[in-house]
Amino acid sequence: MSQILQTKSDSKLYQDLFFSGKKFQFGSNANEATCYVCGKGLEHGFSVTAKKFSSGTLLFCEKHYSM
Ligand SMILES: [Zn+2]
Repeated sequence: MSQILQTKSDSKLYQDLFFSGKKFQFGSNANEATCYVCGKGLEHGFSVTAKKFSSGTLLFCEKHYSM
């Protein structure tokens, strides 16, 4: 069961990246897209979203984005 969910969420993630994708590109940039709070990122199976602040743009995983 968890394997199925993992696969599903991975493919959704890649689709999101692919279709929404001018901000993120595959390759070296993907490795740098990690959460500002916990450091988890695409390589850990977390989707990472950019959030804009007056001081700049930070990246947050799905858990920390709403905090
Ligand atoms: Zn996080």
